[in-house]
Amino acid sequence: MDQAAIDALGNLTVPAQRHIINGQTVAASDGQDMEVLSPLNGQRLTTVAKGTKADMDAAVAAARAAFEDRRWAGQTPAARKNILLKWAELIDTHALELAVLGVRDNGTEISMALKAEPGSAAATIRYYAEAIDKHYGEIAPTQDGFLGLIHKEPVGVVGAIIPWNFPLMIGAWKLAPALAMGNSVVLKPAETASLSLMRLVELAHEAGLPPGVLNAVTGEGPVVGEAMALSMDVDVLVFTGSGGTGRRLLTYAAQSNLKRVYLELGGKSPNIVFADAPDLQEAAKVAAFGIFRNAGQVCVAGSRLLVEAAIHDDFVAEVARVAEAMKVGNPLDLSTEIGAVNSENQLRQNLQFVTTAVEEGGTIATGGGQVLQETGGYFMAPTIITDVAPKATLAQQEVFGPVLAVTPFNDEADAIRLANDSIYGLAGGVWTANLSRAHRMIGAVRTGVIHVNTYGGPDVTVPLGGVGQSGNGHDKSLHALEKYTNLKTAWIKL
Ligand code: NAD
Repeated sequence: MDQAAIDALGNLTVPAQRHIINGQTVAASDGQDMEVLSPLNGQRLTTVAKGTKADMDAAVAAARAAFEDRRWAGQTPAARKNILLKWAELIDTHALELAVLGVRDNGTEISMALKAEPGSAAATIRYYAEAIDKHYGEIAPTQDGFLGLIHKEPVGVVGAIIPWNFPLMIGAWKLAPALAMGNSVVLKPAETASLSLMRLVELAHEAGLPPGVLNAVTGEGPVVGEAMALSMDVDVLVFTGSGGTGRRLLTYAAQSNLKRVYLELGGKSPNIVFADAPDLQEAAKVAAFGIFRNAGQVCVAGSRLLVEAAIHDDFVAEVARVAEAMKVGNPLDLSTEIGAVNSENQLRQNLQFVTTAVEEGGTIATGGGQVLQETGGYFMAPTIITDVAPKATLAQQEVFGPVLAVTPFNDEADAIRLANDSIYGLAGGVWTANLSRAHRMIGAVRTGVIHVNTYGGPDVTVPLGGVGQSGNGHDKSLHALEKYTNLKTAWIKL
C-alpha cells in the first residue's frame, strides 16, 4: 500500500454531508448541520446534516414506498444479486478513499481500517449477494392431502443504527443481509463516524440500487435514532452499540409498534491462558493485539486476561513488552499499530477507568495515560493493569479503550468461574495444547464466540452474537438472514 496516496487523500477537503433520502441528497428539514471533529488533531473536518424527527420520518416513508411497490424485492434474484455484486466491486475500487475518509473521522489505524472496513464490507456484501438465489423456502412434512409451504419473505422496513468503531464493517453486516432478503433500509450512522458510511450508500446508488431502498439520515442518536426506534412504520430494528442505548430501544419498540429489535452490545471478553499453551510468545503477542488494536475500541476485544498463576509474572511481562513496542500514532501512517481514541469524551472515560482501577487495588504494569498531546488528537498508551480483583470495576465494566485487566487463576475450574463472572457474554479465548481441555472450555465458557489458540478474525461465514447482556440475534453467516425474514405458512388442502 502506498503511503503517498494515503497522505494525498488525507489532505483533501471533505465536503459537507447531507442525508440520502429516496436517492437524493437533502439537508436537514430545519437547515441545521453539526460539526465533525477529527480525533487525529481535534480540528473541524467537515459538517454533516443534523437530522430531525421530520427527516427520519421522511426516510422511513421513502423506504416504505419502495418496499410496497416492490421496486427491489420484485426484481429477479439474479438482478438483485448483480446490483449487490456491482456495489461490492465499487467498494473495492474506492477502498483507499473509503478507508482514509473513515480514519479521519473515527481514528482507527489505517493498516487495520483497510482490511476491516472496505475490505470486509465488500466481502460481506458479496457473501449475501451470492446467497440471494440460493436461499430456498421449505415444504413441510404434512399428512397426505395437504401441502404446507413455508415462504421466506422480506419483513419490510429495516432500521439500522450503527456505532463508530467499524462503521463500514458493522454497517455491511446489517445492510447486506437486509437488502439481500428484499427489504428496504433506513440507516443511522454514529455521530462521530458518518462519513465513510454515507459514501458507501452513495456507491450503492451508483451500482444501481433503486432510490428509496437504502436511505441514510445523520444526526444525534437521541433525536433521529429515537425517532427511528419509535416509528410505527419500521418493522425491524438492528443495533450495535452500548447496553444503555439497547435498553432504550427495547422500550421504544414496546411504546410503538412492537418492532423486532436485535441488539449487539458490549463485552468484557476473557482471554484465558493456560500454562500448557502451545506457544506462549505467540499467545502474548495475540493477547496484546487482541485488546490494543483500534485503541481497544473493538466489541470482541479480549479485555480480561486470565493467566494461570504458574506463568503469570513471565507472561504478563511478555505482553507488556509487546504492548510497549506497539506504535501509537497518526492513524494515517501505515506503520501505526494503535490509532486514536474516537473522541475526547471517550479518552476521559478511559483515563477514569485507570484511576478507579488503581484505587481498587490494581497495579499499572505499563501505560496508564494520554500520549502525543502535542498533536491535539486523542491518543492513549496501551495500558495493562495487574492485580485486578474479580469484582473490581475494571473486571466487570467495559472500557472500550486500550486497557487490559489481568487476573491470575489456579486451575480450570477457577478459570471457568472467573470467565463466567460477568453480565456479558460476547467473546473469549482459550490457550491450551490439551485438546480435551480446549473442548471442555468451549462448552463451559458462556459467550457467543470462543477462540482457541488465536484471538479475533473469524470471517463472514460464522455468526457473531452475544449471550447475556451482550445482546441477542446474530450478524454474519446465513443465520443473519433470519432477522430480515418473515416465515409465511401456506396450508393447502389438495
Ligand atoms: P452508543 O449506544 O452510544 O451509540 C451507538 C449508536 O446508537 C450511535 O449511532 C448513536 O447515535 C445511537 N444512539 C445513541 N443514543 C440513542 C438513542 N437514544 N436512540 C437511538 N439511537 C441512539 O454506543 P457507542 O458508545 O457509540 O458505541 C460503543 C459501544 O458499542 C460499546 O459498548 C461496544 O461494545 C458496542 N459495540 C458492540 C459491538 C457488537 O458487535 N456487539 C460492536 C461494536 C461496538
